[in-house]
Amino acid sequence: MSIIETDKKYVAGTYNRFPVEIVSGKGSVVTDIDGKQYIDMGCGIGVTAFGIADDEWQRAITAQIGKVQHMSNLYYTEPCALLAEQLCLRTGMKKVFFSNSGAEANECAIKVARKYAAEKHGADCYTVVTLNNSFHGRTLTTLAATGQEHYHELFRPLTPGFASIDAGDMDALVQLAEREKIAAVMIECVQGEGGVLPIPREFAVRLEQFCRANDIILIVDEVQTGNGRTGTLYSYMQYGITPDVVSTAKGLAGGLPLGATMIGEKAQDVLGFGDHGSTFGGNPVCCAAALSILSRIDDELLAGVKAKSDYMMREFTGAAGITAVTGLGLLIGLKTVKPAPEIVSRLINDGVLCLTAKDKVRLMPALNIPDELLAAAVEKIKAACAV
Ligand SMILES: *Cc1c(COP(=O)(O)O)cnc(C)c1O
Repeated sequence: MSIIETDKKYVAGTYNRFPVEIVSGKGSVVTDIDGKQYIDMGCGIGVTAFGIADDEWQRAITAQIGKVQHMSNLYYTEPCALLAEQLCLRTGMKKVFFSNSGAEANECAIKVARKYAAEKHGADCYTVVTLNNSFHGRTLTTLAATGQEHYHELFRPLTPGFASIDAGDMDALVQLAEREKIAAVMIECVQGEGGVLPIPREFAVRLEQFCRANDIILIVDEVQTGNGRTGTLYSYMQYGITPDVVSTAKGLAGGLPLGATMIGEKAQDVLGFGDHGSTFGGNPVCCAAALSILSRIDDELLAGVKAKSDYMMREFTGAAGITAVTGLGLLIGLKTVKPAPEIVSRLINDGVLCLTAKDKVRLMPALNIPDELLAAAVEKIKAACAV
């Protein structure tokens, strides 16, 4: 049996995979079983921030693996402590809880908000408000937070205590707050899975003011937008808002599983002994990887992200078959005349790996993709979109 046949037979059928078996890669180029090469414009959905098998990243990981690959959270390890310190120094947050994925980072954020609200405003203050068209994960609670009905079907009952409003609709939030006590509002600054849609800046600012005035925890889900992806370390930094809780994962450890929930001053003391935990969370190898990644997301790298983003926006805006270009930094969505899946399939043929998000083609190249490779990918993408 080929690997594709074996996978189809034995792996749960949750993924509609493309008929490509990737065996290796370097930087922004990946190679399949037949030796065909592809320019990687998806990065494992924004995970391999500095590309595949990056040398510096590998050195950080192998050095840590040679010392200790895992310790229970009953003991201290250096990478975990130093990473938490770095995240706090660079965001102004006060405490970090480590987990293994975006959904878990959001679960923790929700637990922090629920406990803060229960202690401060009573047990009936638990509602978490999210935005329609959002995506917050696949666990039953983060599905409840995800404001897209089609993810909910077949899995009810979901965790109660969630409500959703449209991005931009402050009135809906104010009306909701008159009917029930609100513990938290959770947003993405750019809705990634929802179609690469930045939320309006004025809305984010008014939301923050409303949360502050009513002692509601503001959670920003930076799972997809975080760690340099949008041109700042976290996307909220471009929105002029200060969240109470920030969750992140995807690109944080450059390709190893690591989630982080950063907790600001207001709720910094909410989590106490036994309130939450994770066996693998804060794994020293994953944290060493993240320390290496974070140390490279400096002003120069972020300027590069912005320059590459500007270049892509310029090239795609007004190109044949592309009706809209959305996004921020190196999280870019193309609204196309041809159906997005058709374009992505054709690009596999042409040697470029892209993603979709709703009806868009979604592009998330490595933060350090060489300009020549980016230009080659852009040409092929423009050709595939042209009608
Ligand atoms: C991918 C994603 C998640 C879920 O992350 P997992 O690691 O798959 O659990 C949550 N929120 C956002 C915004 C995401 O893009």
